[in-house]
Amino acid sequence: MTTITADLNNLSTEKASPKKKVPLKGMMNNVMEQFYKAADHIDLHPNIRKILSITNNEIIVNFPVKMDNGEVEIFTGYRVQHNNALGPYKGGLRYHPTVDIDAARALAMWMTWKTSLAGLPYGGAKGGIQLDPSKYSQNELERITRRFTFALADNIGPEHDIPAPDVNTNSQTMAWIADTYMSTRPPAERTANQHVVTGKPEGSGGLEGRDRATGYGVFLNIKFWAEKNNKTLKGKKFIVQGFGNVGYWAAYFMEKEGAKLVAVQDAYGSIRSANGINVEDLYNYTKLNNGSISGFPDAFDLDNEKFFVTECDICIPAALGNQITKENASKIKANLIAEGANGPMNVEGEKILLNRGVTIIPDILCNSGGVVGSYFEWLQNRNGELWHLDEVMAKLDKKIRESFNKVFHYAEKEGMDLRTAAYCIAITRIEKAYIQRGIFP
Ligand code: GLU
Repeated sequence: MTTITADLNNLSTEKASPKKKVPLKGMMNNVMEQFYKAADHIDLHPNIRKILSITNNEIIVNFPVKMDNGEVEIFTGYRVQHNNALGPYKGGLRYHPTVDIDAARALAMWMTWKTSLAGLPYGGAKGGIQLDPSKYSQNELERITRRFTFALADNIGPEHDIPAPDVNTNSQTMAWIADTYMSTRPPAERTANQHVVTGKPEGSGGLEGRDRATGYGVFLNIKFWAEKNNKTLKGKKFIVQGFGNVGYWAAYFMEKEGAKLVAVQDAYGSIRSANGINVEDLYNYTKLNNGSISGFPDAFDLDNEKFFVTECDICIPAALGNQITKENASKIKANLIAEGANGPMNVEGEKILLNRGVTIIPDILCNSGGVVGSYFEWLQNRNGELWHLDEVMAKLDKKIRESFNKVFHYAEKEGMDLRTAAYCIAITRIEKAYIQRGIFP
């Protein structure tokens, strides 16, 4: 133990002072500010601060894909592996025009904190491709995904780095990745590699309930918060930004509990209805409307700028990063914000909200149901088991409750916001692993 601690202390702190901050943009700025705040609070060992401030590996691949018209297009794919002190890298792959190296870095860091806080044996990673999937046919998306998987090759693996769905990727994307990865292994190893990705379709190694796991986790966090504050969700008004997998399932469970969905925003527009929007009707409508909520007949159109200003009790941002900023934070009516997305608010926006007494359930806790579900799927594949939905939901409930209670009590004890508390718990667990093991060689 002494030698180990000495090793950490012997790392030079001269080259890059761990507290020195380089100006960062966008999501990177947010994740680093949040990290430094918590690191200062727990007085994180300076050398571990250095290690966690940077990413372990950054893989950028350029790869060609044949388009339906016979032309070849070159795509750029990313996989950033931030840290694996607690286990294999874990995190999603997103297909979106905003994917770049900075976004992948920030999102990979958030995964490290998320898996640590959830008590999982994983590190953090994230990646994806910079593209607008609506511009490609299903066949093209399949070839893009398979060729991306081939390009990543052994940089991913069931015991090394395990991707999952994220923005604009789904169980079908995961099925293509699993199939491509397995097909490139030696024959006798193929099926043993099924857990190279999680979030697969049921029937191809997927977990029953993984589809709803993130949204269910968001709902559970809101419910646990209400319980702690002696409130009921019955009759509470909520708004949801993003009606993809997370937004839909969060709204579904909120409605089931008696809460009322009064406004929704997606990439195409915003809608509102003071009487409440029926979640299933809206979902069915989007299926017939290219996935978009716009034009839903049982609601009014709403100007996009007016969405966050809607009168409500709870706001669930479940789309992209940096949506709540100093421009709109002071106008938000909700007194609870439950972050279904990763990094939906920036540090300036958060400061305004905290000063106004608004509670924020941070992304690394609020949307952790997804990666917890992924962990269950990974275990299921690894052990050759098949778990039932009831079992999965009960296990999710237990795991999210434990995390919520840990964060809630830490925040109360230390007199801090829930995000800083969540970070302190997550970082402390990683710090402990480094102190026990030291730095090789
Ligand atoms: N993309 C999800 C997230 O941001 C899930 C990651 C996973 O299951 O590995 O948490």
